[in-house]
Amino acid sequence: MRSSQYLLSTMKENPADAEVISHKLMLRAGMVRRLASGLYTYLPTGVRTLRKVERIVREELDKAGAIEVLMPMVQNAELWQESGRWEQMDAELLRFQDRHQRDFVLGPTHEEVITDLIRREVTSYKQLPLNLYQIQTKFRDERRPRFGVMRAREFLMKDAYSFHLSQDCLQKTYDVMYQAYSNIFTRLGLDFRAVLADSGAIGGSVSHEFHVLASSGEDAIAFSNGSDYAANVEMAAALPPQSERAAPAEALNKVSTPNAASVDEVATLLAIEPTSIAKTLFVRAEQDAEATGPAFVALVLRGDHQLNEVKAEKHPRVAQPLSFATEAEVQQLTGALPGSVGPVGLPIPVIVDHSAAALADFVCGANETGFHLTGANWLRDVPEFETADLRNVVSGDASPCGQGTLEIRRGIEVGHIFQLGDKYSQAMKAGVLNEDGKNQILTMGCYGIGVSRIMAAAIEQNHDEHGIIWPDAIAPFQIALIPMNMHKSVRIQQAAEQLYQQLTAAGFEVLFDDRKERPGVMFADMELIGIPHQIVIGERNLDQQQVEYKHRRSGEKSLLTLDAVVAEMQ
Ligand code: ATP
Ligand code: MG
Ligand code: MG
Ligand code: MG
Repeated sequence: MRSSQYLLSTMKENPADAEVISHKLMLRAGMVRRLASGLYTYLPTGVRTLRKVERIVREELDKAGAIEVLMPMVQNAELWQESGRWEQMDAELLRFQDRHQRDFVLGPTHEEVITDLIRREVTSYKQLPLNLYQIQTKFRDERRPRFGVMRAREFLMKDAYSFHLSQDCLQKTYDVMYQAYSNIFTRLGLDFRAVLADSGAIGGSVSHEFHVLASSGEDAIAFSNGSDYAANVEMAAALPPQSERAAPAEALNKVSTPNAASVDEVATLLAIEPTSIAKTLFVRAEQDAEATGPAFVALVLRGDHQLNEVKAEKHPRVAQPLSFATEAEVQQLTGALPGSVGPVGLPIPVIVDHSAAALADFVCGANETGFHLTGANWLRDVPEFETADLRNVVSGDASPCGQGTLEIRRGIEVGHIFQLGDKYSQAMKAGVLNEDGKNQILTMGCYGIGVSRIMAAAIEQNHDEHGIIWPDAIAPFQIALIPMNMHKSVRIQQAAEQLYQQLTAAGFEVLFDDRKERPGVMFADMELIGIPHQIVIGERNLDQQQVEYKHRRSGEKSLLTLDAVVAEMQ
């Protein structure tokens, strides 16, 4: 690819509205552009990486015996009414009507559609087991879309569904898929952990999540240093299952006058220990353009915890980043009405929004447009995980399995596998004739991977101050070919053209930077995009029939003779 004929779209400056590094770098490297809240266009460089992630996922699933299908994104409401999820799901399920006033949804996942397919197509036990998958666009009207493609509303998921006649058979496929997921994340070059998980709204019993370890992760996971024990914190803390806890919207509605709710009431509503809201600071937040969430945000301050890292840029009233604030100071700074900063409030999103259990970067309010604070955070020296879902576990606790102690880290959920049992097949009457000629309800498993989220997660783990450092397997290009001042030197141009032809013919994906740009600009762009291997062609080295090779990750440089370049790159 010649960059002069390509859409590079790199940006020098950090975009102001991006919070996490992957979001910043994906914008700066010209991978994605925001269309509207939670909706992104993938630029050519983004598509290249997305397709590579997809390919690895597809290859490993094919190896695991799964078969590819493609289902519609738009689904008719009848199926959702049949499964019961039409009522169960909150506003995350986007519902709409067609011209005939018939109800439809945009698929957030496809259990209903696939179960409907199987009950029509599969009639005999002889056709089982089956494991079908697709790589397809999902839509979830997330309460708080953020971090770019990491928590988008429209995103690319690989979802697979398996069908069986027995638990034993399901367990076998589940184990195969667990292994396939491990292979996928290993091939992607990611540092990940598989953890025991709560199966949440999708239902079922056994479930594992796959997390990429990253400090920006919205989830926390706990694992033992003395055994294979690993769980997400909900499991480790043995909380009531998510389904038994008040849904965020419900909790909010019940506390219509939050200032009047007592600590005990809030604790009961949210199924949490009263001691975890020893002291709560309540401030009114402006609903900002991005936020689809509640108009109130409260910060839970435990004991003597303080706020820190309140960013100053957008907030004319805050002269300096706040490192230590009392209630009175926060009240003054935020302009909150007297009385609205009080000892009692509704702790959102810290505790309510378990899915966004980020214990960081709260937005808190000002009662005045343009004065709200963003990036409010816990003080670093407050034990990081002493709040919310993690209140019952801290690093160093004995592991529930009895071996070793727990380590608690943050993770980005990139995959989730479930044993669904007969939740959908029972409700939708999906059965086949068994060996005895009797109708038997099917047992199901389902298996998701956040294909687009993986790109962001990979960047969270692989970057430096210059930009992205792609793992080879998912780099948009393998080699950056950088001729210096090519437009002033026929010799450089010839060498570059020749190398480009040779490398391309040898099967490499090369980005040939043939723009009329200064070398500094070209180097910076190639570093930012994170292409793993760079070849720089300059006059002086060319005198010796040499070019410079630079490895993006290590920064190591070496000289290669022109004739040997292709062989060296193999
Ligand atoms: P989360 O806890 O992050 O909201 P989830 O548990 O709701 O995710 P699943 O229903 O398990 O998600 O879906 C399977 C996978 O799809 C997730 O493991 C994740 O990688 C991906 N995913 C889910 N929601 C999003 C989103 N809003 N944006 C991008 N990827 C997502
Ligand atoms: Mg989850
Ligand atoms: Mg979710
Ligand atoms: Mg999940």
